[in-house]
Amino acid sequence: MATRLYCRDCCETIYSNRVPPDHNDHKICNLDAIDQEVRTELITLTQKLQDAVDRFKKMSKSLNACRCSLTVASQTTSEEVDKRVATICREVKKLGESMKNEIIKMREQHIQEVTETKMDTDSEIQLLESTVRISNDIIKDNSTLSLLDILPVVRESVDRCSDEFCSLPVSDHLVLRFGDIDLDSLKEAIGELEAKKSSTFVTSFHVNECMSDTFYYSNDYNSTGLDNLHWCVGVRHNELMSSLCVSLKLKKRGEKDTQACRASYTLTLVNRLEDAKSFVKEAEGVLFRPGDDYSLCCLNVDWNQLFDSTNGFLLNDKFEVVTTIAISELME
Ligand SMILES: [Zn+2]
Repeated sequence: MATRLYCRDCCETIYSNRVPPDHNDHKICNLDAIDQEVRTELITLTQKLQDAVDRFKKMSKSLNACRCSLTVASQTTSEEVDKRVATICREVKKLGESMKNEIIKMREQHIQEVTETKMDTDSEIQLLESTVRISNDIIKDNSTLSLLDILPVVRESVDRCSDEFCSLPVSDHLVLRFGDIDLDSLKEAIGELEAKKSSTFVTSFHVNECMSDTFYYSNDYNSTGLDNLHWCVGVRHNELMSSLCVSLKLKKRGEKDTQACRASYTLTLVNRLEDAKSFVKEAEGVLFRPGDDYSLCCLNVDWNQLFDSTNGFLLNDKFEVVTTIAISELME
């Protein structure tokens, strides 16, 4: 009865009763002989594959976190635009109000001038009317002396009012001459959109890891594309405050000193039940020196709230922190 053999040179099985001639001089052995060898190789390869799956899973998680953080960031930026627009509108309204006040001031001033002139005119009318009345009476009268008395008064009145009160009143009428709305400067005032490179990673901690009051650190994460800096997230159970502190750290790398940098970051302690209940800490333009724990309290979360699994922070006793870093400046 034929048995199965294995040709090492061709990596294939053959039947003992009909070994093709092209296997002459090839290393042929029994299947039993290679079982352990093949098994070991397969175990090694499978482990490598499993490692790759784990890496990809981590990557997929980070990409998901990245998507969330992009959504949050664009939402935040949109809200900033709204706030900025509201501020500009407020300023424009203020300008409008002060222009209207100016109009009122000018109106009051003009009206006062006109009123004064009208009062002068009215008293002049009274004076002239009385002169006319007296003059008419004297004209009807036969006394020459009376005529001579009144004549200089009338003459003087005629001289006085000949030109002065003949012209129509002149006053300033306000009109608003519109200017162009300069959209470019308005845009400039709202602000300039800037795309900053940012890196997002997810770190997962077992709640038992941070039972004692010392920092427990995640693996290093390399912010590729962001000057190759290495970061890690530290968590600590602050027993005194009964809180969880989450902090971000720029790692020192070997002998070669890592540069300090200024960066914006967002730390999110993820609530798996409801996004809106996640704890978020955002900061801009923070100076990170390699090796320094930036702050002991970047994010402070009530320990009991975290620990109560019904609150949605723990899943299988693990909680997750999503970190997004955008570097604005590398220090010399
Ligand atoms: Zn062969």
